[in-house]
Amino acid sequence: QRVGFAVVGLGHLTLDEILPALSMSKKSKLVALVSGSPEKMKKVAEQYGVRKEYCYSYADYDKLRDNKDVQVIYIVLPNGMHAEYTIRGAQAGKHILCEKPMANSLAECQAMIDACKQANVKLMIAYRIQYEPHNRKVREMVQTNQFGKVKSIIANNGQNSDNPKHWRFNKALAGGGSLPDVGLYCLNTIRFVLAEEPTEVSAFIHSTPGDPRFTEVEEQVNWLMKFPSGVQASCATSYGHHDDKSYRVLADTGWIKMDPAFPYQGLKLMTSQAQGKQNLITEHDMGQKNHFMSEMDHFSTCVTGNKTPFTPGEEGLQDQRIMDAIYQSAREGKPVKLAKIDKKDAFR
Ligand code: NAD
Repeated sequence: QRVGFAVVGLGHLTLDEILPALSMSKKSKLVALVSGSPEKMKKVAEQYGVRKEYCYSYADYDKLRDNKDVQVIYIVLPNGMHAEYTIRGAQAGKHILCEKPMANSLAECQAMIDACKQANVKLMIAYRIQYEPHNRKVREMVQTNQFGKVKSIIANNGQNSDNPKHWRFNKALAGGGSLPDVGLYCLNTIRFVLAEEPTEVSAFIHSTPGDPRFTEVEEQVNWLMKFPSGVQASCATSYGHHDDKSYRVLADTGWIKMDPAFPYQGLKLMTSQAQGKQNLITEHDMGQKNHFMSEMDHFSTCVTGNKTPFTPGEEGLQDQRIMDAIYQSAREGKPVKLAKIDKKDAFR
């Protein structure tokens, strides 16, 4: 029996990635749609065989409560709408899968976690990279010290985003600029690979003066993170340069390179290992899995098996805490220390 999903928001990600992934899945299936555009929804419903009475407007969203075929609501709306739709969805008694970034503020993240707890439903943030085999292999290599002790990580996720009218350049809808949208991949993946939390950050922000895209949100952020093990991570993100989505892990006796690391397809993992005076370069093909299907199927397994997802709400809240510190550091022109995560707050 596949778990029934309602998908909220019929934008690029839903149409190009999520709906095709759902139609391939053996554990999850599309049963309902929520959209502000009845014409678009009619077309999509016909294409994917969604029943007419299972198509909801935003005004009718809360009526999902009465739809017994929907177990999970997947929220694929602009970031500034994630909190409201998560909270209302939880109150309708549905498990919530919410796109990244979780929300626009720590208060919103906390309210989402509280609402899901109160309604006794599960909350997962859609960090697809953590369900993807190449990045999982990197984590395994790091956790088993395959190349000795990790000293440093260098990560970048940037792209040239145009269309200043898009919601991504609107502070209320996006929360911020390149940092919460694409820089988040560097931050989240490094935490995932190292399995530890940064204790200090230091950051610079720059936006090209006069560029109409950056009147409300930032163009470029460069930041450093210090970890308790001594690892230092140097990260960069931008909305203003040609696509680059990569990271490198530098360790005692080798390096690990993911380039590209964050696109939906075509990820490449390469390692270099010292062998006497030579370096052994290896390309690791872990197979290409659909990231969205893996992520949704993980959540479906958690729902049917009553388990906590690998990337619960607390994971999104921790990223928000670190992004707040990055913005604070850039604003104040000095490093910002992060509170140690207490054992009782540990989420995996
Ligand atoms: P998009 O602009 O293509 O789609 C957004 C959808 O929200 C549209 O259907 C739009 O009509 C709807 N919407 C409802 N109210 C709106 C409003 N007030 N203003 C603007 N749009 C409104 O965006 P997208 O790229 O599909 O992104 C949606 C979410 O998915 C975002 O949170 C984004 O960060 C996330 N995302 C995640 C990944 C990933 O790899 N996990 C990739 C892309 C986007």
